[in-house]
Formats: sequence, C-alpha cells, structure tokens
Amino acid sequence: MASPMASQAGTALRDLALLRASLLARRSPAVQLAPRRWLNLQEYQSKKLMADHGVTVQRFFVADTANDALEAAKRLNATEIVLKAQILAGGRGKGVFSSGLKGGVHLTKDPKVVGKLAEQMIGYNLTTKQTPKGGVKVQKVMVAEALDISRETYFAILMDRACNGPVLVGSPQGGVDIEEVAAKSPELIFKEEIDIFEGVKDLQAQRLAENLGFKGLLQQQAADQIKKLYNLFLKIDATQVEVNPFGETPEGQVVCFDAKINFDDNAEFRQKEIFAMDDKSENEPIENEAAQYDLKYIGLDGNIACFVNGAGLAMATCDIISLNGGKPANFLDLGGGVKEAQVYQAFKLLTADPKVEAILVNIFGGIVNCAIIANGITKACRELELKVPLVVRLEGTNVHEAKRILTESGLPITAASDLEDAAKKAVASVTKK
Ligand code: GDP
Ligand code: MN
Repeated sequence: MASPMASQAGTALRDLALLRASLLARRSPAVQLAPRRWLNLQEYQSKKLMADHGVTVQRFFVADTANDALEAAKRLNATEIVLKAQILAGGRGKGVFSSGLKGGVHLTKDPKVVGKLAEQMIGYNLTTKQTPKGGVKVQKVMVAEALDISRETYFAILMDRACNGPVLVGSPQGGVDIEEVAAKSPELIFKEEIDIFEGVKDLQAQRLAENLGFKGLLQQQAADQIKKLYNLFLKIDATQVEVNPFGETPEGQVVCFDAKINFDDNAEFRQKEIFAMDDKSENEPIENEAAQYDLKYIGLDGNIACFVNGAGLAMATCDIISLNGGKPANFLDLGGGVKEAQVYQAFKLLTADPKVEAILVNIFGGIVNCAIIANGITKACRELELKVPLVVRLEGTNVHEAKRILTESGLPITAASDLEDAAKKAVASVTKK
C-alpha cells in the first residue's frame, strides 16, 4: 500500500468518476442517473468494516422487511432507536419516499413505530439531493441504537491529487452539506496532509481533533478515532472515507454516525472479501452483466452503440458522433487485455438494447491486438445474426491483418478510415432508415 502507486490509482479512479459524471451529464435530464463507482457498499456494510477496525459505531441490525425491522428494534433493547433507509446516495435525512413518508432517517422510542415507518420505506423509492429524480428503491433498512448528539463535526480521508497522497479533512461544522460549509466559510475546513510512508502523526491527529472543537478527554478520543479510521483507510485500499456526522455524545463518546467509503478498484485482487460485498442492486442489470466480462458499460439516450477501448476514446467518440448529428446509445469500454470471447459478449450486450440502430466500433490498438478484435467481431456477427449496420474503425497494432479478416469475412461491415469517417458513416446509416 505504501507506494506512490496508491495515489496514481486514486487519480485514475477519480478520472473515471469524472468521465462518468461528464458522460451522464450529457444525457437528457429525464434519464439522468447519479454517477456511480464500480464498488459500492451500503452504510451498514461500511460500519461493519469500521467496527472491525476499532472505530466507534452504534449497535445495529439490518432488515429487509418491516417485520424484521420491528423484531430488530425489540432485540436492540435501546432507549431510543434510529431507523435509516439504506441507499447509496447521501442526504437521506432530508429525503422523501414515494410512499409519502418524509425523511430517510427517523428517531423513535417505540419499536412498533419502527415497524410502521419501515413499512413506508422498504419497497418505496427514496429521493434525495443526490439521487436521480425518481429516487432509488429502498431494499434494506438499518435499525440502530440511537444516541444523543451534542455536537456534529465532519471528518474525511481522501486521496488528494494536489498533495500526491492522503489528506485528512475536517470541520467543526458537521452533519450538514460540507460543500456548503466549504463555499460559505472555508476557514472552517481544516486539512492535514499525510505522508503515506509515515502515516498519521500523533501531532496531526491531535491538531485536527482540536480544530474540530473536541475538548479534554473527547479530544484524545477523537484523535484516536482519526488514527483508527486512517488505519482502516489503508487496510482496505480506500480512496475516500467520509464520516458526517463525526459526532460527540453528552455521555462523552466520539461516534461515527454515518459512513461512506470509496474503494480503489485496482486493489480488487487483494480485497476479495470486500469486493464480494459489492452492492450491485442499484446498478442497471446490463452494467452488472458487462462487469462480469470485465467490460464497462454506460447507457445513454441515442441509437448508436459505441464499442471502444479506453475512457478518452469514449469521450472523443461521443463528441464526434454528436458533432455529426447523431446520438450515442451507450458505451462499452473494452479496456486493455482483450480476449476474443469478450468481444463476442460485448456485441451481445450492445445488440440486446432495443434502442440500438447501428454499432460503431472504434478501437485503437496499443496493447490491444486489432486482429483479436476483428476475429471477435466476425464471430459475433455470424452467431448473433447482426441486424443493424456495423461501422468499424480499427487502428494500431496488427491493423492490416485485422482489415484482411474483416474484408475476407464477406460480412456487410462498413470500414472507416478514421474517427470522423466512422462517425459520419454511422450517423448516415441510422438517418437513412
Ligand atoms: P444522511 O442524511 O444520508 O447523511 O444520513 P445521516 O446518517 O448523516 O443522518 C442524518 C442526520 O440524522 C444526522 O446528521 C444526524 O443529525 C441525525 N442522526 C443520525 N443518527 C442519529 C442518532 O443516532 N441520534 C441522533 N440524535 N441523531 C441522529
Ligand atoms: Mn450523513
């Protein structure tokens, strides 16, 4: 973990997140989706990881029926209970359910009320500032022992490009929208840059705890929690750990009341247990299917399917289709180490979308061998009896062999000389019809 690779990986991940955000922003507002990372954990899963690493969280159970929520509330045997809808987006406290219920976070002393509230949460969509317009369906709720909060602060650990490593970020003004605090009162945001080889120094943890407004023994406790959260951050290959509110109780405890963790997808090979917990229930099914074959899929609005390799080429392809008057239906990013079977699966996924009226293949063979792509394409065309026009632009490694394979296949594939030409031909093929 303690290598410069970690920050590079963080950067790559952020680039991907930016790409997705930017692609998604190009959709019409009606189908806009919140940008998603590839690995997502719900709050209760993140809190389990935290608890396992000595971080203070409330006692809790998870339920997927109202009756289980009621039973969980009884079993907790707490003075007060907090019921929290589990969706990946934040801002749940101020969210609204399609059942009419207001608030994705509720406090009550009566377990029966937990059952009643859970009934109006589970199976309904919760819309918050961070969800798509129609909200996200709630499948699980967290039933936790509620604690009084005397002060809410904000704490996060991020991989930061500007300082080439992790940075601790905190504010004594927590519980609220941190972006707003940063905009209105930047002097209330405190940072500690961490040397990844040395870790969090006692002085840094102490100073941040003090800046967050913790006093006396609470300051000691907050500093200790900060160090434990940093250890967790390293141990699980996170790129971000956010706790809002990072609060204190009148009884003198520092508690992580909420949790959001982002992961470095490049670390999947050594974080198998965590990746196995990935909550894919909020993904589109096609995204999950693509992920099974190591393909990255992003659905868009138009009618031209794009089969590309690399995020940059995806953006360029999107732009050039738009410039030529067309609209991409989706993107399938093949990535680096391609196998013929993947190309076949990619075509299967692309053509399964009924919106698709043409396919544009735009592959730049660097690491990718164009001949493998060409073989995959011809096999897919034959076996799937492709019914829509296919425009192919291949460039780079082994491209001559690839072109020979395509021409000799006798299949109705339109070859394109460059990206512009490919976009023009793809757009023409859908407007002709
Ligand atoms: P978010 O709205 O999705 O960020 O969900 P949070 O988990 O942060 O909960 C929203 C708000 O509910 C928090 O900022 C707290 O003010 C409040 N809250 C959450 N858990 C508790 C609790 O155990 N006790 C009390 N008193 N308030 C809580
Ligand atoms: Mn929160």
